[in-house]
Order: sequence, then structure tokens, then C-alpha cells
Amino acid sequence: MSRVSLGVDIGGTKVLALAVDDAGTELDAERIVTPHVAERPAGEATADAVISVVRTLVARNGWSLADVTVGVGLPGMMTHDGILAFAPNLPTASGADLGAHLRARESEIRVVCANDADCAAVAEYRWGAARGCDDVIMVTLGTGIGGGIISGGKLVRGRSGFAGEIGHMVVDAHGPRCACGSRGCWERYASGAGVARLSREAAAAGRLPVLVARHGGDPDAVRGEDVTAAAAEGLPEALAVIDEVGWWLALGIANLAAILDCGTFVIGGGLSQASSLLLPAAERHVKDLVEGAAARPPIDIRVSQFNEKSGALGAAWLAADHFS
Ligand SMILES: [Zn+2]
Repeated sequence: MSRVSLGVDIGGTKVLALAVDDAGTELDAERIVTPHVAERPAGEATADAVISVVRTLVARNGWSLADVTVGVGLPGMMTHDGILAFAPNLPTASGADLGAHLRARESEIRVVCANDADCAAVAEYRWGAARGCDDVIMVTLGTGIGGGIISGGKLVRGRSGFAGEIGHMVVDAHGPRCACGSRGCWERYASGAGVARLSREAAAAGRLPVLVARHGGDPDAVRGEDVTAAAAEGLPEALAVIDEVGWWLALGIANLAAILDCGTFVIGGGLSQASSLLLPAAERHVKDLVEGAAARPPIDIRVSQFNEKSGALGAAWLAADHFS
């Protein structure tokens, strides 16, 4: 048997577990709903969920726990010691040492825990859209923005393990409040929540007359999904809003390129479904926003190869690498 690693991605709503071989080929998959049980100690419910999917995959394929390594991707700030220090989208696991909880349930489990966007970056770098690119930033556009940075072929984790929180780069100090407590964070503009907010603003300002008419004349009834769908149909007023989102996406990308000189950005997450419109807009605006565009090679903005599976795949790679 070639080496098998299990990658488990803990999202705010679902847990996805993939079994992969050492070439990144998916061997099996298991999905369950993310448990949120507040009255138990931090991380206990999450640990139960991980053990459940791991046991299912191992039993179904006739493996033993000793045969596999396990990587877990978590939505929050992970310390180098594997403590989930801060997880706004998984508050019942905030502060947990998930690895310790897992070893208490299965003493022989070989497990590593990492930030989910770091995992996604690793998957795209090792096996996906950014193969062969040693300087790449993964940008996951969901409700917020997650990030994973590969610089010089290495995952950048920083002093405490918290590097890559790119969604909380402030792009407008007078902008709207963010869940993190700051104002004008990038994820308030270029994420799914950003599309929703910019759509609301455009509707209220009279810049979406066709869509407002379609919603009975009520500007408040126009949602981000309506604008994305209308833009895909080619409605000019909706395309203008997507172009605005593309500008904000490009602003963050230009800032990151100025700091790290990375040539490749991989865009994943739920909003990447609008990528056929959003990414060309971002690429166009980056040329105006980045320093010395004419003097540097073009910045390549690509769509994720693995989409919602990238976190689980990267977690599997990190575990296999850690225990190799
Ligand atoms: Zn923030």
C-alpha cells in the first residue's frame, strides 16, 4: 500500500475528510455536519467529529490507525503548538488543543493541526493550481477572506503561527466595522459579505435600477447573489458592482505583492464561483495599483484547482510531511 494520509477540514457548517495517497489522489471521502456544543469543554465536540470521520474512513478501507497520518485544518489562528487560539467561526473550539483531545481518544493517532487556509495554500502549491510556483498566496473568498502564504517554497507561519491573516489587512481606516474589532478590513470588501454590502450600497444609491425593479422596487431586497447572477447574464449595472469588488480584490493583492513579491495568487472559497468575471477585473485593476507594474512580470491570478477540497487535501499533505 502506498502511504495514506487523511485530511480533515473543519468548516463552520461541515466537516470534510479525504483519504489521499502520496501523489494527492483522492481514495475516499466522508462528510458530516460540524457539531457546535457550547456546554462542553472547548474542542471536545470537534474532537469527537474528527475521530468519527477518521474511524469511518479507516474501517471502510480495511486500514488501521497505525497505517495513516491525520491532518486537521481549522478555521482560526493556530499556534505553532497546535492550539486554536482564536476561532470566530468555531467559537466552541476556541482555545482548544485539538491534538491532545484526539490523542486522549486514540493514543496511537499521528495527527497535526493547522490553519485551514494554510492547508489550502499547501494543497494548491504541492498538487494544484500553483504547482511549480515558489511564491504564491492562497486567497479564500468566503464569508470572510482567509489566506495562506508560500514564500521561497516555504509556508510562512510567523512568530506565533498567526501569519497570513490577510483578510484583516485594513484597506480603509474609516470603513465599516469588522468582526475582529477593527475597521475597513479587506474582507469587508472583497468577500461574499463584501459583495453583499457593495450591492446594498449600489441599490440604495440608485445604481441598480433594473435589479431593484425586479425586486418590487425595494432596494433592501437586492442581495449579493442577485447581483452575481445578473452579472453572469451580462447586466451592465451588475457588472459595474462586480468590477468594484474586483478593484477591492486587486487592492489587497497589490498590497501583498508589494510586501512579498509573490507572482501567483490562487483564489478559492465560495465566491470563486464568480471568478470568470471577478478575476479578469482584478487582474486589470492590479496593473494600476501595484508598484512598477511595467517593470515587474505580470501578476498571475488563478482560480483554485481543488475548490472546497483544498483544505482537506493540504491537511493530509502536512500530516504526511510531518511524519515522514
Ligand atoms: Zn477584521
